[in-house]
Amino acid sequence: MNIANFHKLIKSLQGLNDKQRLEIESALHQYSSSESIYHLLEERLVEQPECPHCHSSLINRHGKTQSTQRYRCKNCLKTFVAATGTPLARLRHKERWKDYFYCMIKSMPLREAASHCSITLTTSFRWRHRFLEIPTLLQPSTLEGIIEADETFYPYSEKGERHLIRKPRKRGMKAKKSGRSSDDWVKVVTVRDRNQHTYDNTFAHVTSDALTKELEGKVQKDSVLCSDGFKTYIKFSKDNELTHKRLNVSAGIRVIENVFHIQNVNSYHSKLKLWLAKFHGVATKYLTHYLGWFRFMDNKENCNENSLFKIQQQLVGT
Ligand SMILES: [Zn+2]
Repeated sequence: MNIANFHKLIKSLQGLNDKQRLEIESALHQYSSSESIYHLLEERLVEQPECPHCHSSLINRHGKTQSTQRYRCKNCLKTFVAATGTPLARLRHKERWKDYFYCMIKSMPLREAASHCSITLTTSFRWRHRFLEIPTLLQPSTLEGIIEADETFYPYSEKGERHLIRKPRKRGMKAKKSGRSSDDWVKVVTVRDRNQHTYDNTFAHVTSDALTKELEGKVQKDSVLCSDGFKTYIKFSKDNELTHKRLNVSAGIRVIENVFHIQNVNSYHSKLKLWLAKFHGVATKYLTHYLGWFRFMDNKENCNENSLFKIQQQLVGT
């Protein structure tokens, strides 16, 4: 827009009533968020041209579909758009993604996010899980120094499944306390160092071999592992040449030598449980997505919608 017209526009704003002013604000907001998000994806293609199919850098513009720029690869001849190959591929209403990222940073339940962004519940569900694909894959690359490990249990849930294999648990009915190894519970192991690098995941069986495989190359050799007396951690420390400090909470030993304890990991578990309660029960098959979401938000630097978008730009598998 040229300067003269811009000044005219600004001048014309003086005559707006309240309703019109709100409409302008909302239009500006929508415009900037849709522009910026898709614009960033397109910028990435200009700076680092790469075909998402064959990774060739020889790409050309190839017309537009519904106002979205298409590209064609000179090597494999396939066409694509800027979102192809990212978790954002084939999602519609891109002008509302940034609002949805905001809802996720605010930990809004599905319905609330749907109404905030004027999308259907189904879309809200689809976006949530698509946007969580990358945070779920992000685990720390290093765990070092004093490392705390502990496991926690979540009731098995098939919430939202059409064909229940098991009888649904009635509201208010307590899950069986005994036999925590039974099918009623999902085990989550959290390993967190004092620099707040946090690994967590669900486990069918918490064994030293399973943990070693998961944490391979992450745990530094001269570290100290703090845990309860669960025998898996004893073997895991031996297998990975770690000094092991065993707490015995039932005997009142919660801290050894003033520094070795598992209070950070326990507090992480409490916060996670409180946070999960907002969602009124999470289906077990999506639990790792929620773990990833919470890990992502645990890093204070990540607590804005731009950071959630930035990681969506990363291609899955790279
Ligand atoms: Zn190609």
